Amino acid sequence: MAENMLETITSLSKRRGFVYQNSEIYGGMSALYDYGPLGAELRNNLHDLWWKKMVHQRADVYGIDGRNILHPKVWEASGHIKGFADALVEDKVTHERFAADKLVEDQLGVSVKSNDIETINTYIKEGKLKSPHGNPITEAKNINQLMAAEIGTVEGDKMKVYLKGESCQNIYVNYKQVLDSMHPKIPFGIAQIGRAFRNEITLGQFLFRQREFDQADVQYFVHPSEASRYYEEWKEIRWNYYINELGINEERLRWQQHSEDERAFYARDAWDIQYNFEGMGFKEIEGLHDRSNYDLTQHQKFSGVDLSYTNPQTKESFIPFIVECSGGFDRSFLAVLFDAYYEDEVNDRIVLKLKPTLAPYKAAVFPLVKNKEDIVTKAKEIFNKLSDDYSVAWDDRGNIGKRYYSQDEIGTPWCITVDYETLEEGSVTVRDRDTMEQIRVSVKEIGEFVQDKLR
Ligand code: ATP
Repeated sequence: MAENMLETITSLSKRRGFVYQNSEIYGGMSALYDYGPLGAELRNNLHDLWWKKMVHQRADVYGIDGRNILHPKVWEASGHIKGFADALVEDKVTHERFAADKLVEDQLGVSVKSNDIETINTYIKEGKLKSPHGNPITEAKNINQLMAAEIGTVEGDKMKVYLKGESCQNIYVNYKQVLDSMHPKIPFGIAQIGRAFRNEITLGQFLFRQREFDQADVQYFVHPSEASRYYEEWKEIRWNYYINELGINEERLRWQQHSEDERAFYARDAWDIQYNFEGMGFKEIEGLHDRSNYDLTQHQKFSGVDLSYTNPQTKESFIPFIVECSGGFDRSFLAVLFDAYYEDEVNDRIVLKLKPTLAPYKAAVFPLVKNKEDIVTKAKEIFNKLSDDYSVAWDDRGNIGKRYYSQDEIGTPWCITVDYETLEEGSVTVRDRDTMEQIRVSVKEIGEFVQDKLR
């Protein structure tokens, strides 16, 4: 196995067009990454799958797509302006900065809220904490993570706004509009895949911790008496999603409950789904929170708009409780890559054993030789036919063995070669990524073959 998996995955991602450093030709922007051609495909597949499972296949969930800028009062109401801070400490020798709560966790084995400078500074004063280099550190100070921007054209008349610190705020703010336009009955959910922006302190973990990233949220609105039941239901749904839909090895997943110290004061319960990133350990990929009625109560208070729900039958009026499933898209993407990466030493190849539904290309089409017109024309026909329904790769470079290995490394499940037999008998060679087995399939049936396999 690779020595440093994060480095291996980072370099494979760059070399094969999955993920690039943002603004690389200008020296790069740290903790910002762009998706390349294959990464964009994989990301779209993750997006479509999540939407299908969480929105399309659920009559009780409504999908929305909100902007990255919201009214600044949203962040007052949500508590982000006051409390969305992380305690930062500086190494007195190297002047490097670190997130203090992570040092507490690593060095003292206890968890602490990321903005609890009082407790953190007590540890520092008692000499219990140092920098990861062993040097003394400064007192902790809280740094707000919200990213500010300005809106408006006239100098002096510009409005200070914040880029979304968490994507889900669109959902709370649009809850009433969804109620009024779609008339859902409680329990129901609002889902969104959206951006979040955070001035993070700890950097350098590739896609895992970025300053701009995507979150996929289901916020499920329930009667207060049913919150615990639905919380358990959603925990099961989301756990199974990672295993059954993303194909992640269950042994590399675990639940981690937030201790009372870590939990937001309004949260009644909070659990994270963590993935065991080789070399990095178990890390959060999705947070599930029983958020009580905090969000809607706050927005009702700050906006002055009644956000209660009235049961049409009983006429009971109440502010719904919210069960939140908030997953990080970039972290799922990374977990999927870690999980799929396989060094096949026997056959001297690297394989991304991605679920075929997630693979950037569902198939690759090769003309055996590129200077034989009949073969190339037939291969083009097959490429065109398949690409009506799927993303398909085309490769006519080098020998077939090299082309197979190149597709294995990006996870293409089936390679289809058009050869001399195709012209004579109307069949192609289909080679399977995982078993490396080759079979002949009739050209007429190739579309059905791929469709059946993907089912
Ligand atoms: P962490 O403790 O790792 O900073 P968090 O508890 O702040 O994460 P949440 O606010 O619960 O994270 O956000 C929900 C999800 O968004 C997380 O489970 C994670 O997958 C993703 N996420 C959070 N911060 C980042 C980031 N800086 N880069 C990429 N994804 C992130």
